[in-house]
Amino acid sequence: MVEAPVRENDGLALRPYQVEAVRALRAAFAAGKRAPVYQLPTGGGKTVVFAHIAREGAKRGTRVLILVHRRELLLQGSRALREVGLDHGLIAPTLPPSDAQVRIASVQTLVRRLDHVSPPDLVVIDEAHHAVAGSWRRVLEQWPRARVLGVTATPARLDGKGLGVHVDGPFDHLVLGPSVRALTEAGFLAPADVYAPPMKADLSGVGTRLGDFDRREMRLRMDKPVISGDAVDHYLRLTPGRPAIAFCTSVEHAEHVAEAFTDADVPAASIDGGMSDVERDGVLEDLARGEIQVLTSCEIVSEGFDLPAVEVAILLRPTQSLTLYLQQVGRVLRPAPGKASATVLDHVGNVKRHGLPDADRSWDLDGAMRRSAGEAPVCRCPECFACHPPARMCPVCGHVYGGEGREGLRVDPDAQLERVSRAPRDLWTPVRERMRQAHIEQGRCRTFEELVDLGIRRGYGNPRAWARNVWRARHRSRRLGPSVPEAAADEVSA
Ligand SMILES: [Zn+2]
Repeated sequence: MVEAPVRENDGLALRPYQVEAVRALRAAFAAGKRAPVYQLPTGGGKTVVFAHIAREGAKRGTRVLILVHRRELLLQGSRALREVGLDHGLIAPTLPPSDAQVRIASVQTLVRRLDHVSPPDLVVIDEAHHAVAGSWRRVLEQWPRARVLGVTATPARLDGKGLGVHVDGPFDHLVLGPSVRALTEAGFLAPADVYAPPMKADLSGVGTRLGDFDRREMRLRMDKPVISGDAVDHYLRLTPGRPAIAFCTSVEHAEHVAEAFTDADVPAASIDGGMSDVERDGVLEDLARGEIQVLTSCEIVSEGFDLPAVEVAILLRPTQSLTLYLQQVGRVLRPAPGKASATVLDHVGNVKRHGLPDADRSWDLDGAMRRSAGEAPVCRCPECFACHPPARMCPVCGHVYGGEGREGLRVDPDAQLERVSRAPRDLWTPVRERMRQAHIEQGRCRTFEELVDLGIRRGYGNPRAWARNVWRARHRSRRLGPSVPEAAADEVSA
């Protein structure tokens, strides 16, 4: 993979794999396909790809309609198009109908105005794994001659079924982008450290509805103080002070988890779909500035919202959907200045269920990803709870697996071998080593002020709050030593 972006004469910088995507999608249309879908991991920059195609098409007179699946994502989508320099009009309830060459709309708004919107030649569907519900069908049937371009990180429905026309989906061709691992190796995504502390949630006997855990039952099992408290403890132990998103099962659950963090003096807030754009943007800005450390949410941030500064994903929503799992962990993989790695804290067994975020996955339009259900080749260290590819020794804490380690490897032996050969240890070692060094560096700080200095050197948004959390976690776990120095605590709250 060539590293330097290719800057085209229109000013839109395309990375080499994005150039390749544009070429492959054009070739698909030229070969008579009506509706190709492009797969690229979250954070890989799919907006740049379809914006480029939209602009080039618009120059030749093609009318392009870009669709997002939720009203809340319209402004975010429009902003992303502006950032890549694509002129466009908006179709929104409060605006007069736009007749711009390139338009963006949410499906909800569009279905109510179908007869008033001039027909497009190309319909671009962002987050295309949603494109099977009834309203999408109406939109695509309204303009049977329009070409369709889907983009998604996970070309499968949330229930695991495929997106292909032969399984009643909208797409007739799949173009695959580079894998999570290839993007990580090239520095386009942040490497993820994964921890799965022992589960406090009891999911035994929870039924399945529409291909995922029964929502109501899952809420009852997950929304408990002991589980929220556990999430707080592990956040303070493993990733104190780092900006985090917690994925919850309901709006109330998200609020309760935010309260649990706040009670432990970790600034936290929840967001939900009922908030206005201004309210929601305010919370997201607080998170970006470090005034909030933990953001909790039911669904609103699982996709569409671009928050590169967030480093930690706290999984509190069990899911049987590989698509939902990858959308959630994908939120934290985008690189950002000062971000050495991302961390996934899995409290619900999703990593065990679906594999590590950068596991090799083979996508197709049939929905064959269902075969990945069940035990994935992941080893979980009984000492530090790190999840890693099968190995004799934990790459984080050095724990050597004896008899008990075999239990963590309850997988098909062939799959293990394949997995090990695809994930040589040397890919992991630099990340683990960096983490280990970071822990050692932190441990060397004897005083509160030394911790603050370290937080400043590491470029944390709120080094004092971070230091205070490390200090508290340290003395909580040892059950001895001084509490946070009074003066320091005052400064933090001032
Ligand atoms: Zn370990």
